[in-house]
Amino acid sequence: PLTSNDLIEEHRICVCVRARPLNKKELTMKDLDVITIPSKDVVMVHEPKQKVDLTRYLENQTFRFDYAFDENSTNEMVYRFTAQPLVETIFERGMATCFAYGQTGSGKTHTMGGDFSGKNQDCSKGIYALSARDVFLMIKKPNYKKLDLQIFATFFEIYSGKVFDLLNNKTKLRVLEDGKQQVQVVGLQEREVKCTEDVLKLIEVGNSCRTSGQTSANAHSSRSHAVFQIILRRRGKMHGKFSLIDLAGNERGADTSSADRQTRLEGAEINKSLLALKECIRALGRNKPHTPFRASKLTQVLRDSFIGENSRTCMVGQKQSCGGSRSELSPTYEYDRFTT
Ligand code: ADP
Ligand code: MG
Repeated sequence: PLTSNDLIEEHRICVCVRARPLNKKELTMKDLDVITIPSKDVVMVHEPKQKVDLTRYLENQTFRFDYAFDENSTNEMVYRFTAQPLVETIFERGMATCFAYGQTGSGKTHTMGGDFSGKNQDCSKGIYALSARDVFLMIKKPNYKKLDLQIFATFFEIYSGKVFDLLNNKTKLRVLEDGKQQVQVVGLQEREVKCTEDVLKLIEVGNSCRTSGQTSANAHSSRSHAVFQIILRRRGKMHGKFSLIDLAGNERGADTSSADRQTRLEGAEINKSLLALKECIRALGRNKPHTPFRASKLTQVLRDSFIGENSRTCMVGQKQSCGGSRSELSPTYEYDRFTT
């Protein structure tokens, strides 16, 4: 039988959708539910209040994905079909990238970073930590053990086109590109990690750094891209790299009229980087020789992840299944046909 690995190995890009459960406030307005996931790879969009006949879903507006995870899915399940198959890629000298994409409040940080809803902040169930856990399992396998690999982690944020080190008090860092188009984040802290616990500590440090010192912490984190990387090195040289990214919220149009100048500029910057990301992923999916990575800081920093034979990407489009209009749903679906 086919495993999740086989299915994703065929593609360099895997595109998924995850719907989060309705929160308490939304539950009291249940009639606003506008999406339904009737099977493991289909998302159906319908009018609020409409009663959905699942047997006739093809007559509704439906979108097909590699995987669609409904509101009962756990991080562990999402992980299994998205990032987990990419762990092997970095052991095979490849570059892997996993993005969470969606509006603010749709569940990106929950998926990537872990559960921060209750009093107990638990980052051990996020895709960052689950990936790290499997990297430490993998490295013990005889095949890889003999390579004598070392594991490092970085954690940084891209905010308004600038890079800040989350493992070093948000130090602002420069990005340089040399003559051979090698891109370097100068001075980025790369911490060696020996076990999952080490990684969890770094995630905690980075997370608290991400939100501290801001008047409105949540507003800030929703406007920045967080990049967590696991790097494998062999005799000092890079062997493989896994970039796990909690993207800035893609609320479209929301920032144009009412917002102040700074907010509008931030919104424009986010749009620019998400568009650049889309172009780069498209180029990757179609094996195009030219990747327009210079169009934003995000894609520039991730340049090496978009080139080369052995690059793999997974997008997790996050959905809140209620509220708003249909047009607010469309940005996630733009990624639908990246694989073709
Ligand atoms: P984003 O990072 O996209 O802005 P968050 O991850 O912060 O969104 O999620 C918004 C809220 O919804 C948080 O309170 C979070 O705990 C909750 N949430 C998100 N996804 C889930 C889920 N799958 N299960 C339970 N709660 C979730
Ligand atoms: Mg978030």
